[in-house]
Amino acid sequence: MKLVCPECKNEVDLSRYPNLAVGNVIECQMCGISLLVNAIGEEVAAEIVDEGK
Ligand SMILES: [Zn+2]
Repeated sequence: MKLVCPECKNEVDLSRYPNLAVGNVIECQMCGISLLVNAIGEEVAAEIVDEGK
């Protein structure tokens, strides 16, 4: 499975999250943004978490 960061368009390294599940918040190691996992499959869907709003 793979996840492309919606912010910076880089692939997020999911090997850091061996127990990834829907609802998890992960961090893009390229741009540092927080991403909420919406769906897991061959491709992982995630949305940007608005912080401090
Ligand atoms: Zn990113």
